[in-house]
Amino acid sequence: MRLKHIKGAEEAVASSPFVIHDAKERRGAWRELFGNEGAVHIEIGMGKGRFLMELAAQNPHINYIGIERYSSVLLRAIQKMEEEPLPNLYFLCEDASELEQFFAPGEVDLIYLNFSDPWPKARHARRRLTSTEYLKRYAAVLASDGRVEFKTDNETLFDFSLESVEEAGWTLLGCTRNLHQDSRMNEGNIMTEYEERFSSKGNPIYKLIAVPPCGPS
Ligand code: SAM
Repeated sequence: MRLKHIKGAEEAVASSPFVIHDAKERRGAWRELFGNEGAVHIEIGMGKGRFLMELAAQNPHINYIGIERYSSVLLRAIQKMEEEPLPNLYFLCEDASELEQFFAPGEVDLIYLNFSDPWPKARHARRRLTSTEYLKRYAAVLASDGRVEFKTDNETLFDFSLESVEEAGWTLLGCTRNLHQDSRMNEGNIMTEYEERFSSKGNPIYKLIAVPPCGPS
């Protein structure tokens, strides 16, 4: 993703009440922040937050946390929240490689990965959010019935992700190479910013749903 630095973004993120600044101290206690025992769903690499904000508005009984590492990107989500605050949504301006320091085992019910950066060079494969390294991190924080839902328009990244899922011993619950033409997988689909951009160019959207192996990984 090409990133334009926005002046004042760090300061806006640092002072926003919608951003959780002490995420590591909240480990194991996220439901206290939301004040309920509802499910916790997270999106890693949330970008400008459109997908999560629509989901959170539709599902007030679910608690949502969006993770985005760049303040210049997160700033746009914060601005939208200032216009229309949602009580069941918070943001973290953090790198997801530290996921296990933010969430305790079993604390997360669903992880969304949408149009994750492809990192095309082989030497950067470990940085892909669907690498086996990341799947291990997800398995460590997901509830026993938790799952990952991943969408992309990048066929190479999708094939790599299917290989990672198999190598890590996860089970594939759903898989499509043309989401918008697959009535079952597309039911209730909420488009992300990237999804809208790429599908309007005619690119098919790929999606998989996978669950980690039972027991400690
Ligand atoms: N999910 C959005 C969508 O579908 O429109 C944004 C997609 S954009 C290509 C990927 C986003 O993931 C970028 O904003 C990037 O900064 C973020 N990202 C990538 N790796 C990350 C990581 N390790 N931790 C947190 N955010 C990350």
